[in-house]
Amino acid sequence: MADTPRPKHSPMVQFSVTGHCLQVGGMSLTRLAQRVGQTPFFAYDRQLLSDRIRELRRQLPSSLHIHYAIKANPMPALVQHMAQLVDGLDVASAGELRVALDTPMPAECISMAGPGKSERDLSTAIAAGAVVHVESSTEFERIMELSTEMGVPPRVAVRVNPDFELKSSGMKMGGGARPFGMDAEIVPDFLKQVFSHDVEFMGFHLFAGSQNLRVESLKEAQQKTVDLALRLAQEVPGPLKILNMGGGLGIPYFPGEESFDLSQLGPHMEQLLSSIHAVRPETQVVMELGRYLVGEAGIYVCRVVDKKVSRGQTYLVTDGGLHQHLAASGNFGQVIRKNYPVAIGTRMGTQDREEVSIVGPLCTPLDLLADKMELPRAEVGDLVVIFQSGAYGLTASPQGFLSHPAALEVLV
Ligand SMILES: *Cc1c(COP(=O)(O)O)cnc(C)c1O
Repeated sequence: MADTPRPKHSPMVQFSVTGHCLQVGGMSLTRLAQRVGQTPFFAYDRQLLSDRIRELRRQLPSSLHIHYAIKANPMPALVQHMAQLVDGLDVASAGELRVALDTPMPAECISMAGPGKSERDLSTAIAAGAVVHVESSTEFERIMELSTEMGVPPRVAVRVNPDFELKSSGMKMGGGARPFGMDAEIVPDFLKQVFSHDVEFMGFHLFAGSQNLRVESLKEAQQKTVDLALRLAQEVPGPLKILNMGGGLGIPYFPGEESFDLSQLGPHMEQLLSSIHAVRPETQVVMELGRYLVGEAGIYVCRVVDKKVSRGQTYLVTDGGLHQHLAASGNFGQVIRKNYPVAIGTRMGTQDREEVSIVGPLCTPLDLLADKMELPRAEVGDLVVIFQSGAYGLTASPQGFLSHPAALEVLV
């Protein structure tokens, strides 16, 4: 019987290898672990972060503004680095706003979105002069009450729940019934309410979906986004300062997935921007990205603390696990568990290989970092590396679960 070839992980070539050891931020992983002083840790490579933004700017229209959605990775040092490279920061809470305001980014280039913003979220954003993306009419009333009390007219944009979705995206954020934004069909009436108040109206925010690897799906969603936004813009008496058309670019995590082809997106977006500027020359078009900007620049590193065989299956037990990297365990939105790209960072390219499962120290079968992967033969003391870990890693994990010591994060 002919073997059907098993799909493979996209090669992780962003980090180089010297003498069987992964190199991170200009030093060997072993040395980096010594420098950090403990495992587990997350390391983010600032050169890779910079390269990614440079590549986006090279491929996409020069007038397009790129925002970083900091919920993907809110580590303050990383956000500082990103703030020097992007045109704006998107935050989802007063806590993220504080991190954003510590950077040199001007407040008017910071926006806050998310359902159920608290009074503290709203009042800190208004006081800062950040743009608040309104997600309901109750929220708008709350914003007006707070801003009247504070004597500061708010900067607002309306977040629209589109009447379509981004096909083949990992997470759908619009289309159908959603808790995000206001349904497109009620926006015209809502705008009348908005314009009867003393607000600085900034524009619209539409976010159809995330983690998309298919250029065609994204192009289609972008076209529909622009059509809808321009239709709604007819109800806007003054300038439409901002059109935030969402993001959605994904990165390859699982076997068979390939990098998003940016070269096909550039010409399409060039056209889209021209069509917007033909009717709305004043509009600043924004694309907001989280994972695509930071995901591939980060790794999670943990150490093998035990190696055991159970009924023929070899387990590497590490000091890191799902409490620090929920997504790699398959429990952050995945329907079917698949392996992240994993390597033995201290035995790169060695020929002696074996099939292992890599687990963490938690007493639950969910704590699985690699399920039956063929990897270089590893021993206690070796370092396990999980790639594609720069986004939705530590802060998207239940760190208190089982009360193990905290992981560290470093920017190298
Ligand atoms: C989460 C989020 C993003 C970032 O999504 P990524 O998949 O990380 O690019 C962007 N915009 C909004 C409104 C979000 O909620």
